[in-house]
Amino acid sequence: MTTIKADVALIGGGIHGCSAALHLARRGYRVVQIEKDGIGQHASGVNAGGVRQLLRHPAEIPLSRASMELWRHARELVGDDCGFQEKGQVAVAETDEDLARLQARIELLYALGHQHEELLGPNELFDVLPALARWCAGGLICRSDGFVSPYQATLAFSRAAIESGAELLTQTRAVGFSRKGGIWRVDTTAGTVEATFLVNCGGAWGGAVAAALGEPVPVEAIAPMLMVCARVPHFLDPVVIGTSRKLTFKQTMSGTVVIGGGHLGTADAQRQETELDFMRLSASAQTVLDLFPVMRRATVVRAWSGIEARMPDNLPVISPSSTEDNAFHAFGFSAHGFQLGPIVGTLIADLVDTGRSSLPIDAFSITRFNGEHAHPSEEAAGRERLDLITH
Ligand SMILES: Cc1cc2nc3c(=O)[nH]c(=O)nc-3n(C[C@H](O)[C@H](O)[C@H](O)COP(=O)(O)OP(=O)(O)OC[C@H]3O[C@@H](n4cnc5c(N)ncnc54)[C@H](O)[C@@H]3O)c2cc1C
Repeated sequence: MTTIKADVALIGGGIHGCSAALHLARRGYRVVQIEKDGIGQHASGVNAGGVRQLLRHPAEIPLSRASMELWRHARELVGDDCGFQEKGQVAVAETDEDLARLQARIELLYALGHQHEELLGPNELFDVLPALARWCAGGLICRSDGFVSPYQATLAFSRAAIESGAELLTQTRAVGFSRKGGIWRVDTTAGTVEATFLVNCGGAWGGAVAAALGEPVPVEAIAPMLMVCARVPHFLDPVVIGTSRKLTFKQTMSGTVVIGGGHLGTADAQRQETELDFMRLSASAQTVLDLFPVMRRATVVRAWSGIEARMPDNLPVISPSSTEDNAFHAFGFSAHGFQLGPIVGTLIADLVDTGRSSLPIDAFSITRFNGEHAHPSEEAAGRERLDLITH
């Protein structure tokens, strides 16, 4: 068994781990990135690729807006456009009640000084979504949102990290963490990594790393589901989000249609398995048929789910460790974290570099759960609909 010496031992080969590896390596740190499976094998490689600022929790907005700038300039950052398409995202109000919720959202945003979302009346809504059922009442749009190709993007970040000097160990699980004389020792299934800093980007398994550092958090593994339909003639540009019904819906550049939006299967993080819930998938399909009658001609060709980490308040943990020096966490992205990947890597690099983040991250502190949220599943279930307006 070998011992590798590094500046940073980094756990996780999802978008957050690859982005952190890239930004740290570019700042001159010797990074060893440890991934138990393959790059992008979990949530980061199988998600819907939606990149949105729309409907973010206010605490996430500065990060989301900064991250969108990085997506827009992905080619300069990682030498690959990551499939980025700036097509906008629209939350559709099916009823006057939905529209009132979106109106309340926009008033909150304007009060906070954010102008990136716009309320749409029915005519403006049908201008951007000509195939939408005519009974919809209005919507909310963020024109600078869009989508990327998630696996392509995660691989691009990984390649750029390696080209910048990061060392990647795949099929290598980090199994033990200890610190002696200011040096972290990470025991893995392929040897030991010794480093000054430890970074945890472990996704749905990030809670186990935090627990090993003596700071357990109420993170749960969930299994968001997606379906893809065979190619249909072009009818849709922006990504569509439901307001009172769970839906995200997009047509890719090849004409296929990807349907998701929050219906969950079941996840077993330990066995790394998920199971689809076909009744819930059919509820998503029904919403699509109601909103886009043109989809009656479409054929679902595949459905899948991925393992994601969800926190009780649906906000990630992006935080220095509260128990150990020189350790940092970025996990728990609660089914909307891919978009944040590019910026979270820079914030982790800031924390390692200077001990401070260049954007506000207090809301994402690992200490916010101390003594609270004993039953994450029940709480999260109770909040599902509220989350739409704040995430
Ligand atoms: C079906 C689905 C659709 C989604 N749609 C969207 C969307 O449209 N837009 C959006 O913004 N977000 C979306 N998300 C959420 C998004 O995919 C995640 O928030 C994001 O990818 C999380 O990235 P990550 O790097 O934290 O985690 P992951 O991608 O899960 O990466 C964590 C990695 O850490 C590794 N790891 C963990 N522990 C260890 C260990 N001890 N040793 C070694 N390796 C370890 C794991 O193997 C894993 O590869 C979706 C998620 C799913 C599942």
